[in-house]
Amino acid sequence: MENSLEYAISLDQQDVLKHFRQKFIIPQHNNKDAVYFTGNSLGLQPKSTSDHINLELEDWASLGVKGHISARSPWVNYHEQFAASLAMLTGAKADEVVAMNQLTVNIHLLFASFYQPTKERYKIICEAKAFPSDQYALQSQVKFHGFNADDAIIEVAPREGEFIIQTEDILSVIEQNKDSIAVVFFGGVNYYTGQLLDMQKITAASHEAGAFAGFDLAHAIGNIKMNLHNWNVDFACWCSYKYLNSGPGGVAGIFINEKHATNTSLLRLAGWWGTNKKTRFLMQKEFDPIPTAEGWQLSNVPVLLMAAHKAALKLFDEAGIDSLVEKSKMLTQYLFYILDEINNSQQNDIIKLITPRDAHGCQISMLMLQRGREIFDALINEGVIADWREPNVIRIAPVPLYNTFEDVWKFGNIIRKIISTDVYDIKIHSSSKDAGI
Ligand SMILES: *Cc1c(COP(=O)(O)O)cnc(C)c1O
Repeated sequence: MENSLEYAISLDQQDVLKHFRQKFIIPQHNNKDAVYFTGNSLGLQPKSTSDHINLELEDWASLGVKGHISARSPWVNYHEQFAASLAMLTGAKADEVVAMNQLTVNIHLLFASFYQPTKERYKIICEAKAFPSDQYALQSQVKFHGFNADDAIIEVAPREGEFIIQTEDILSVIEQNKDSIAVVFFGGVNYYTGQLLDMQKITAASHEAGAFAGFDLAHAIGNIKMNLHNWNVDFACWCSYKYLNSGPGGVAGIFINEKHATNTSLLRLAGWWGTNKKTRFLMQKEFDPIPTAEGWQLSNVPVLLMAAHKAALKLFDEAGIDSLVEKSKMLTQYLFYILDEINNSQQNDIIKLITPRDAHGCQISMLMLQRGREIFDALINEGVIADWREPNVIRIAPVPLYNTFEDVWKFGNIIRKIISTDVYDIKIHSSSKDAGI
C-alpha cells in the first residue's frame, strides 16, 4: 500500500461499488464534498428517498383511507416488503425479521418476552458502559420485575489498562453465573470501540448456562455479515438510521429466532398488528398471534418512515452484503496503514487505535494521545465530519456504500499536516461540539 493521493484514486477506480456514491447526497463543505465519516451515527440520504416518500404522499392524497388496500404498495402490509432484505442483512429467515417501532422500544418489547425472571434466574449479563439507552432499558426492566439493578445486572468490562472486552472473559462470566442468569444481552458491535463480538460463541455459552442470548445490532446491521439464524441467536434488534441510511428516527427492526417466533404461547405485549391478518379487521376480542416475528408488531405501520427505509434497503439489495463487507475491509485496512504511518513518523505515538484489528466493522476509534482536540477541530475545519467522544476519542466510519479511498487518504493527510506544524491556525466555523449518536 501507499500513502498517496494517486494510489487512493487508483483503488477507487478499481472499486466495483464505486457507482453507489452517486446515489447519495453528500454534504458540502466550501462547495466541495465533505469527507463524511459519521455513517455510524446518521447515514447519508439516498437520492431516491424523496421519490419513495413522495409516492406515498401522492397515494395518500389521491386515495385517502383506500390507500391501506389500494396504494401502489398497500399500506396494511407495507412492512412485508422488507423481510427479504432484512433477512439478507442479518442472516435470518424472512419469517424471523420485521421492521417496526424504534430501537429502545423494541428492546423493551423483546425483554417482555425473553426476560421473565424467577427468584433463582433473574440476572442479565451485558457489557460495561453499554449505550446509555440500553443501560436505562435494562435497569428499568429489572426494577419492573422487582429486582435491584446493582445485583441483577452483571457488566463485563475490559481488563485493567485495556479497551476492548476479551471474549473469554464474557464466556467465563456467563459460566460463573450459570445458575442465576436469565438473559445475556450485548451490542454485536460496540458503539464506542467498534469491537465486533463473537456472537456465535456468546450465544452457545448462554444456552449452555440456560439463558437466552440477545444482541443490540445498532452498529452491526448493514456493517458486518451476520448469521443470526445459524448462530442460534434468540433475539436481536437494531435501528435503521445508522449504517442503513433510512433517515433520522427511521423505523427499527427485530429478529426473533423461528423456534420462538412460532411459539404463539410465548408471552408478549400485544397490539392489533401482531394478530392474525385474516381476522384482524373483524375486531374480535381474542388475540391470535402471527407465528412469525410479525407477531410482535403493535401498531399499523409508519408508511412515510418505511418509504425512506425502502429506498435505502434497495441499495443494500443491489450491492449485497458480501461485496460491501469486502470493500469495508479494504477501506479500514487502508486507514490502519495510514494511521500506522503517522505514528511511525513521530517519536511518540499520536494515536492509539482502540478498535481491535481482527474484529471490527467500518468504525475505527482513535484514542488521541497528543493534541487530540486540536486535531479534531482541524479536521472539522477542513471538511471532515467525524465524531468526538469525551475525554479524547475520535470515532470515524468509512462506509463502503459512499465513502472512498480518497476520503481515507485526505483524512490521514490532514492529520499529517497538523502534526508537522507546531500550532495549527484554526478558524472554526462549525461547532465541533456537534453531537453524534
Ligand atoms: C444508536 C443506539 C441506540 C439509540 O436508540 P434509539 O431508540 O434508536 O434512540 C441505542 N442503543 C445502541 C447500542 C445504539 O447504538
